[in-house]
Amino acid sequence: MKTNLKFSEYSEYSEYPEYSSTQSTRNTRNTRNTQSPQTTQKTLIPSNMTHTKNTMLDRRYLRMATIWSENSYCQRRQVGALIVKDKMIISDGYNGTPSGFPNVCEDDNNVTHPYVLHAEANAITKIARSGNNSDGATLYVTDSPCIECAKLIIQAGIKRVVYSREYRLTDGADLLRRAGITVEHMPLDNI
Ligand SMILES: [Zn+2]
Repeated sequence: MKTNLKFSEYSEYSEYPEYSSTQSTRNTRNTRNTQSPQTTQKTLIPSNMTHTKNTMLDRRYLRMATIWSENSYCQRRQVGALIVKDKMIISDGYNGTPSGFPNVCEDDNNVTHPYVLHAEANAITKIARSGNNSDGATLYVTDSPCIECAKLIIQAGIKRVVYSREYRLTDGADLLRRAGITVEHMPLDNI
């Protein structure tokens, strides 16, 4: 890890509308039409409503990951992660030292110890000790994954990554996208 890490400007505040109006739904419901019941049912649910509901869940999971990051003893940066599969949280993690090591992440010069595990690595390896698996899961993480964690995410079968804080290095996110993983930036100030 290099010193003087900076996060880029958060610039996507307007990307995720909180709620969409239901007025158009009511209008649709009152309109006579000759379509079959099944087709009618589909037209009554605007696609953006499903999107909005999912976005709200994403935000809540991301907020939980942010709260979970407060468990970290690391001084320079606290990172939290959750792994969600089939609407269940199957794992969690925050950055810190391996089991049995003192809870001190930095040396006297405020440089992070090389043996500190990132939040994503902790969450993924926790699954390895459980009866669960992360195939097809979503990872919620406070910070854009580094390239080392990106490799683990790919190999763990995770299919989607949602993060809030942008990082100046994008090689981790780029690698995830190359592997066909959906990567979404949801800025912290917007959740
Ligand atoms: Zn990492």
